Formats: sequence, C-alpha cells, structure tokens
Amino acid sequence: MQQIEVVVIGAGAAGLMCAAQAGYRGRQVAVVDMGKKPGRKILISGGGRCNFTNENASPANYLCKNPHFIKSCLSRYTQHDFIELVDRHGLAYHHKTLGQLFCDNSAQDIVDILLTECDWAGVSLHLRQEVLAVEHQADGRYLVKTTTQTFNCESVVIAAGGLTMPKLGATPIGYKIAEQFGLTVLPTTAALVPFTLHDHDKARFDGLSGISVDSLVTSESGIQFRENILFTHRGLSGPAILQISSFWKAGEFVSINLLPDLDVQAQFHDWRSEQGQKSLKNLLSTILPKRFIEALISDGSIPDKNANQLSHTEIEKLTETLTSWKIKPNGTEGYRTAEVTLGGVDTDELSSKTFEAKKQKGLYFIGEVTDVTGWLGGYNFQYAWSSGWACGQAC
Ligand code: FAD
Repeated sequence: MQQIEVVVIGAGAAGLMCAAQAGYRGRQVAVVDMGKKPGRKILISGGGRCNFTNENASPANYLCKNPHFIKSCLSRYTQHDFIELVDRHGLAYHHKTLGQLFCDNSAQDIVDILLTECDWAGVSLHLRQEVLAVEHQADGRYLVKTTTQTFNCESVVIAAGGLTMPKLGATPIGYKIAEQFGLTVLPTTAALVPFTLHDHDKARFDGLSGISVDSLVTSESGIQFRENILFTHRGLSGPAILQISSFWKAGEFVSINLLPDLDVQAQFHDWRSEQGQKSLKNLLSTILPKRFIEALISDGSIPDKNANQLSHTEIEKLTETLTSWKIKPNGTEGYRTAEVTLGGVDTDELSSKTFEAKKQKGLYFIGEVTDVTGWLGGYNFQYAWSSGWACGQAC
C-alpha cells in the first residue's frame, strides 16, 4: 500500500492541471489513469490540434444548473493565465475563429506542457490502472483501490471525466463515487453531438453528405448559434448543430436560417422582376449549394419554376422555408461521438472555490464529471484548467 497525500483520479486536462498545482504547493501527488497514455482526449481534440482555450471565455459560455458556480474559478484562473502558461513553454499556436486558439503543430504539445509541469512539481503518474473503488477510513483518510495497487491518502480528487467516447476510457466511476458519498448526480446526456434524422428526412437528404452551409440555428427555447451546419450520412453535424445539441430536448424542432445575411423576400422579388426567365434552381444555386437546392426541389419544398412564375404567397412560403427551415431530429449520435457530457455531479454539492464536496472533507470533483458544460470552442478545456487550478490550490 502506498501512503501519499493526494490521489488524482484521471490524467486528463483537469487532473493533470490540478496535480501540478498541488505538487507546486509541496503536496505529494499521485495521478492514476486506466489509459496507456495521459491526456488521451486532449490528443484527439480539435482534429488533433486541440482548441485549448477561447480568448472570450466567460461564465455565459457554460451550462450549469447553478450559473454562478463557475464564476469563481473562471475569474481566478482565466484563459489569459492559460495562454501565459503555454507562452512560457514556447507553444506555437494560432487564432482560428470566434476566439478559438489551436496548436500549430499537434495537441501532443499541450499534453507535453502538462506533463512537464507535473514533472517539475514532483507528481507521480500511474498509468494502466483502473480505479475500482474509493473507501473512506475511520481515521479520515481514503483508500483508492486500483487494478494493481492501493493508495492510502488524505485527499482524493475525482477528475475522471464524463461518459463521452467510451473507447477512450470514459467510465461512470466519478458519478458512482459521488453517489457513494451521498452527493446528488444530475441526469447525464450527450452534448456537442451530431443529430440523427428520421428515415424520411434521411431519404430526402441522401447524397448531401459533406455539404456545409453557414447558418443561424435556433433551438425551441430561443438559443441561437451562427456557424456552419454539415450534412453527414447519418444526419446533421457541423459546429452550429453541435452547439445547439446542448440545448435540444427529444421531440423538439430546430429552426435553421440558411441565408442569415440576406433579405430573402426582397431577393425573390428582385429575381422575379429582373431575371424572371431563370429557374429558381439556377438562381438559388448561386447562393446555396446546388445539390441541396435540388434536394429541396425534389421533395417539393421549393417549386420547380422560373422566378417570374412565383406568386406573392409562394415567395412568402419560400422565404419561410429558407430562413426558418424546421428539422425535427430523431435523436443524437450519443456518447460514442459526443464531445462532452451534460449533467453530472451537482455543483450545489461542491465549494465553488475549492471544488471540495461540502459534505465530505477531502473529496474533490473537477472537470467534466461535474455539472458544467461549455459551448464548443475551447470552453470545455478552459473549465478543466480553471477547475483543476482552483482545486490544486486547496486539495
Ligand atoms: P477527461 O479528459 O475525460 O479525462 C478523464 C480521465 O479519467 C481519462 O483519461 C480516463 O481514462 C480517466 N478515467 C476514467 N475512469 C477511470 C477509472 N475508473 N480509473 C482510472 N482512470 C479513469 N474541448 C475543448 O475545449 N476544445 C476542443 O478542441 C475539444 N475537442 C474535443 C474533441 C473530442 C472528439 C472530444 C471527445 C472532446 C473534445 N473536447 C474539447 C472536450 C474535452 O475533451 C473535455 O471537456 C475534457 O477532456 C474534459 O477533461 P477532464 O479532465 O474533465 O476529463
């Protein structure tokens, strides 16, 4: 049995950040992970280039039952602090869009920075060990039992992530430990995830896979995102769809404005008076992908006519079709492809300053296992850094 001060369960973004911080405070820290490598989700993130933070991150970019919870850690360890850290390590990175920062070379650079920090802070890393149980002892210490050893420690930090990407080692251990100690775990669901479509919609859009359209997507609750939508062979994806998936509930519609910068009704009137002999198919194909227009014509959403054959009512209906195109997803692709898990350990159970469980001294929860979910765009890693940093000052 190894005696140690702090065991961090999970060598992901939150766990490695927390471990380094606690190590710098002079704590003896062990990080345990079942994976062969640390930071496996970091490595596949952002298409292998890791969108490691967002220049504009603020509490408004997060979903959480208690919207105030995240304020403390985000203000104590900001995106600028993380940028300062990567600058110190000489990371080459670039700004892509909407404040998103990506590595120039590879996400491995971020993992290397975290491992260097852990090394400098004297943290020991224990890979290929699945944590099976955490037990609280009469003397107030904890036993962390893994497949190969047992740690006896003062503090346990649960940084075991959510349920997304089971292939990359996602397990429900974090939620189980929370429940074991009587903490509320809010229902979880896949978020930042592509939509699947009902068979009739799949048939309508068969052959459109790979087409993307800059759109304004609105949920039934009125939340909006302006980014691309992407047709896939299973349904709809792309950043605007991933964003809205976090706000979508089964059975709801999403509404898609396919031409958010255009006065569509005026455009149809101009076409009718100035290019009346041209077909709608040819005219619309100048502003939207041709294959998409052909699909909308073949399913009857757009009439197969010339512009001068359009009645006033038809123009209104077409405008509605293109600016408020309603899609009712069948569901989502689920945890298999989702980027994050919505829900998790109820933040009312945790101190927003230290992330310690209010009713269980020495037990901490950080990162995705908690009920905090960021938008797409580097916000989730920023929460992992901020919560990991804050906990690392306290555990
Ligand atoms: P994780 O990174 O999931 O780490 C948890 C760790 O715990 C894992 O290493 C796991 O092996 C370990 N573990 C779990 N159970 C056990 C157990 N029983 N025993 C031992 N170890 C265990 N966010 C962004 O901000 N920007 C992006 O570009 C981005 N891209 C993404 C792309 C993809 C494909 C995915 C899936 C996610 C992406 N995310 C992105 C989200 C981001 O990866 C997560 O928010 C973040 O990794 C959460 O960090 P974490 O440390 O809380 O959990």
